[in-house]
Amino acid sequence: MTQILWQASKSGGCRSQFDGENRMEHSWDAHHTPAGTPEPAAEQAYLRTELERRHKRLQAALKSSPAEPGLSILFDQVDAALARMDNGTFGLCEICSDPIERDRLLADPLVRFCLDDLTSDERKALEHDLALAARIQQGLLPPQHAFTQSWELTYYYQPAGVVSGDYCDYFRTNRGLLFLCGDVSGKGVAASMLMSHLHATFRSLADADLPLGRMVEAANRIFLESTLAGQFATLVVGRASDDGSVELINAGHLPVLHLQENGANAQDASDVPLGMFSTAQFSPHRLHLGPGEGLLLYTDGLSEARNPNGHEYGILRVEEFACHSEGLDARTLVKNCLEDLERFQSGGKQTDDLTLMVLRRAPADLRGEG
Ligand SMILES: [Zn+2]
Repeated sequence: MTQILWQASKSGGCRSQFDGENRMEHSWDAHHTPAGTPEPAAEQAYLRTELERRHKRLQAALKSSPAEPGLSILFDQVDAALARMDNGTFGLCEICSDPIERDRLLADPLVRFCLDDLTSDERKALEHDLALAARIQQGLLPPQHAFTQSWELTYYYQPAGVVSGDYCDYFRTNRGLLFLCGDVSGKGVAASMLMSHLHATFRSLADADLPLGRMVEAANRIFLESTLAGQFATLVVGRASDDGSVELINAGHLPVLHLQENGANAQDASDVPLGMFSTAQFSPHRLHLGPGEGLLLYTDGLSEARNPNGHEYGILRVEEFACHSEGLDARTLVKNCLEDLERFQSGGKQTDDLTLMVLRRAPADLRGEG
């Protein structure tokens, strides 16, 4: 079983026993290393290896085509980046000296200017890339509503910027309706790429027809092998069968709320996030949803939303809201939740990616049950 204790604390976020030792700031809450913090040692080492590898490749390419001007320019740029690593200025903007955004540096170790100091051509190129990334991401989303004989599913997905680091998907498998809601570390394009990665991983694994725990274990290993140290995803994965039974794995994510007639029952995280330990095991919890009962899944764009006074919406308010949602269909529930958030924010701006998902078992009268 898992050796990590985490308590989904009511103030939001969860703690691990690695607090203090781990270079990730404090919780599994995914937006952890602010853009401006210094590069952690492991990332510097990774980037140096990357640069040295490119250096060698370019050297080899230049040997066979010495007259290629593009190659020698690139070679000089890689050389200069390695020199910046040696003299300690790597990762600092050459105009304002502020740290360059971490995600951009990881994606391209040759960048020399922060976002604020791009030329207008560079800015236009970046905006174009972002728009393309957003289109790709939109294309990955499933239809917004789905009805099966036993289930109704709906979601709301709103990036804070152009692209989102939230992950939201569902689809039919041989073993039932698979639904996923999560949040990957980081922000912006880098986070959206990780999200696409998870999407592809789970879609491919679904064909293998594995038990849920083994499927998540495989996804964890694939994710870990193809990401950098420090990148991870908190995730809820569930599989709903026609008889109302649901298997649920909560990998370091916020509590899932089981909406019942007498209130909302929180299903806290009991497994580690994906991308942390290759040997992590994941064991599903089993729930049974009666007719009309539902599950509410969400990301921290809801629980950590702040109003203009700086107060946090909070997990308690999500639970409070969920307690009063008996008998609502999935779409009304999502709509009401968004209205409550809007009231709370009273004009404040959305600063984090937001995803809500509601899975609801069809009421008895719709399924011909008494
Ligand atoms: Zn700058």
